[in-house]
Amino acid sequence: MTASFAGTRSRFDEATQLFEWTADHLGLEEEVRLLLRQPFREMHVQVPVRMEDGSLQVFRGYRVQHNGARGPYKGGVRYHPGVDLDEVRMLAMLMTWKCALVDLPFGGAKGGVSCDPAALSEVELNRLTRRYTQNISHVLGINRDIPAPDLGTNAQVMAWMMDAYGQRYGYTPGIVTGKPVELGGSYERESATGRGVVHTLLSLCADLRRAPQSTTVAIQGYGNVGSWAARLAVEAGFRVIAVADVSAALYNGAGIDLRALDQHLQHEPMGTFRGADRIGDDELLALPCDVLIPAAIDDVLTEDNWQSVRAPVIIEAANHALTLAADTALTDRGVVIVPDILANAGGVMVSYFEWTQNIQQFRWDQARVNAELAKIMKTAYQAVRAKADERKLSLRQAAYAIAVERVARAIRLRGFV
Ligand code: NAD
Repeated sequence: MTASFAGTRSRFDEATQLFEWTADHLGLEEEVRLLLRQPFREMHVQVPVRMEDGSLQVFRGYRVQHNGARGPYKGGVRYHPGVDLDEVRMLAMLMTWKCALVDLPFGGAKGGVSCDPAALSEVELNRLTRRYTQNISHVLGINRDIPAPDLGTNAQVMAWMMDAYGQRYGYTPGIVTGKPVELGGSYERESATGRGVVHTLLSLCADLRRAPQSTTVAIQGYGNVGSWAARLAVEAGFRVIAVADVSAALYNGAGIDLRALDQHLQHEPMGTFRGADRIGDDELLALPCDVLIPAAIDDVLTEDNWQSVRAPVIIEAANHALTLAADTALTDRGVVIVPDILANAGGVMVSYFEWTQNIQQFRWDQARVNAELAKIMKTAYQAVRAKADERKLSLRQAAYAIAVERVARAIRLRGFV
């Protein structure tokens, strides 16, 4: 089954278009659609921060809770200059589908602050995080809404969030996930999203009867998700021939020595690494590699540049890395795309493990975390693959069909309609 989607500039409208297609496909009743089309709650708050130079800056912060029929709202917090309500709404809706797809007892939410974290000092970031947390804390809660790291945030930011929340409500480690291990974080949360990306890559390669050893991979984004995906792909036998961060893109056809690159990045920028050639970011997206993994920001493949893609497989590690127009055009051209809600679900999965460990006050060891992650990722991939084959759908359409159906069922069971 193919679907055609009109181009639109609102990301939330795009997410809604895909939802409407899925709702039609499933024959969902109008009342369920009404509940799922719009978020349950959206907040935008002022985040005033006294800067180190004595000036006051007022940032914009957001938290959107899309749907909580299956459990507490769950979703990351993003610090990036491009954060706005439209983006956070879209990402919150994606979280609802992602949690349902991998069958976690969570609803979907997202948050963020429109800021450039690289331009803020550590003291300023700490202040911004505390003020943002205070201003949204009345809609958070261990059984209500549990934030996590995303683009531009990390374990340190989660530690500040936990501390700020705790000052008001008492010690509550389960209020955020992705915390440092010393504060109740889960082992392997940091690597979890990248690890999940590699699990889907391995499952797909097994389906396509491709050996990792003869498969080349290019990865855009070398932060939490991209760098772990790269390291673990190499560990699984893949040849990572290109990587990029916001400052530079690198290419080495023989495979990049990631250990050397990681050492280099401790003191130097990506662009001065000698073990690879410098290429443009657009060139990376257009490389004739076997697998392309966008793992940086939204909207990197759009109606303007999808034609340049030469990889036959895309693993969408970053949320909404492909616009709907690019996704539709590339799918029609025969490119196999593993959608974001499946490819990057490893992060929320280990967040779920962290939350359960915090509630039980019991820590799992690394082996258990990784084994549970592998099991759930494999089950989710197989369910999506089976649905796609059975109904002649793309992997994205199949993933949406499974997820939306589950959320709709929870809505009916709760008696919302
Ligand atoms: P991060 O901040 O740790 O890293 C982002 C990386 O992308 C950095 O290397 C940055 O330099 C690079 N980058 C930014 N703009 C770029 C550009 N224009 N070209 C090339 N590289 C660019 O963020 P992250 O946590 O790795 O998140 C990346 C993506 O994965 C986001 O879409 C996020 O929503 C998604 N995601 C993250 C998690 C998680 O657990 N962190 C979970 C699920 C999904």
